Amino acid sequence: MVRAQDVKAACRKVVCIGRNYADHISELNNTRPKQPFFFLKPPSSILCADKGLGASLLRPRGVNTHFEVELGLVVGRDVRDLHPEDGEGALGAIAGYLLSIDMTARNVQEEAKRKGLPWDIAKGFDTFLPIGSPLMRSASNKYRDLDPHNLHLSLSVNGKTKQSDSTNLMLFRIPRILSDISRVMQLTPGDIVLTGTPKGVGPVVAGDKMTAELRNGDANGEVLSELEVDVKDREGPYEFKET
Ligand code: CA
Repeated sequence: MVRAQDVKAACRKVVCIGRNYADHISELNNTRPKQPFFFLKPPSSILCADKGLGASLLRPRGVNTHFEVELGLVVGRDVRDLHPEDGEGALGAIAGYLLSIDMTARNVQEEAKRKGLPWDIAKGFDTFLPIGSPLMRSASNKYRDLDPHNLHLSLSVNGKTKQSDSTNLMLFRIPRILSDISRVMQLTPGDIVLTGTPKGVGPVVAGDKMTAELRNGDANGEVLSELEVDVKDREGPYEFKET
């Protein structure tokens, strides 16, 4: 069985699609992109966060720490210059699916946007990518035929639902996403692709507990993966101060 820590060990890059759900774009007052855009998170930000593991997200001082629940893909083969309509090629490149939370330092990101600086810090703190164990596709298991555009993502804070939407609301579908990425950078086995977050993102502080679920089909479908993350304050010298 492949576990979250195996995914972390094998991962060489994490490529994330931004602004891929219409209602999330409007809640942050962003403009709808004409083509997918992406950014990277460092593999060092991965936090193995399956329910019951006792995973802790570390909130850096001065940082408005937002959750963004997302469907992640684990890449299973080399992908370069994939055609945007090659649905079979895209599916064949997916070794497995992941439930993930793209944690974002919102005030750091807003400052970066304002000043035209890169997003790396806002997205890259240690523990800023909680993931669950992957649902690895194989010829003999049920994950092979999962429809990644018909899964349900949800996230709760202290038992209160904050995000709950279907992956069928993605603006850019997975073949297009993998196509756009692979025209720029080759995807290799073990890489992770995050497909964007639906509406409802918000902050967490120390003492909060985040839980997330990935279900097959709709909100009443079979639970495929569950995350559980306690939020703590991060020790150490870093502090974000707006300038
Ligand atoms: Ca995101």
